[in-house]
Amino acid sequence: FLPHLIASLEQVDQTYIMVKPDGVQRGLVGEIITRFEKKGFKLTGLKLFKCSKDLAEEHYKDLKGKSFFPKLIDYITSGPVVCMAWEGVGVVASARKLIGSTDPLQAEPGTIRGDLAVQTGRNIVHGSDSPDNGKREIGLWFNEAELVHWTPAQAAWLRE
Ligand code: UDP
Ligand code: MG
Repeated sequence: FLPHLIASLEQVDQTYIMVKPDGVQRGLVGEIITRFEKKGFKLTGLKLFKCSKDLAEEHYKDLKGKSFFPKLIDYITSGPVVCMAWEGVGVVASARKLIGSTDPLQAEPGTIRGDLAVQTGRNIVHGSDSPDNGKREIGLWFNEAELVHWTPAQAAWLRE
């Protein structure tokens, strides 16, 4: 009884994952989705999208003063991106680990950036850095009607 009660109180988080334009152009969309799918997180939103400058600037508003900000906005708006919402206990921190360090040369082998990219300015994927930012970013990139609430058939085989 008690373990079940504790388990049911565990926080289910959401994270916003995005395949950046270089990941789409390089044909890495399936590979990137697969990493999160195989891990056992739940996909709740998915779309191919061409984002506006305004949306890119809002998404990265905390980096507005940085020297690389204009180039970052050009990069993110340079072609289609794949927007995803993923859900699960611990999904925000775990997705950051699966993605790897911001600089792909520093990212560990086995991570998405460590395996598939070589430069910070072309690091192929985004992942929210906190549960609050996960919610904020999903709200920015998706309408409520685009998000799907469902129970995967494998749920009972992923968590006791
Ligand atoms: N970025 C960059 N140059 C830098 C730092 C960051 O071009 O010196 C870009 C890079 O695409 C990075 C994004 O800005 O992914 C957001 O930076 P952040 O520090 O939030 O890294 P992340 O959370 O993506 O690992
Ligand atoms: Mg970040």
